[in-house]
Amino acid sequence: MNLERIKYQTCPYDQEEGILLTDLEEVIPETDDDGNLQYYCPSCSNTFTYCECDSRDRRY
Ligand SMILES: [Zn+2]
Repeated sequence: MNLERIKYQTCPYDQEEGILLTDLEEVIPETDDDGNLQYYCPSCSNTFTYCECDSRDRRY
């Protein structure tokens, strides 16, 4: 899995850049119970999930 490609997603709260949560070795992404990727936004200190089912609506 290429983590660089999915490393950042726009935060839904303030549109800042959220960073992918991974294990300590940055090899395995953190996911919730549904397998969605987890992101942390350093700007607003929120974590949010990203569902790939939304990807067709995104252009970045
Ligand atoms: Zn944010």
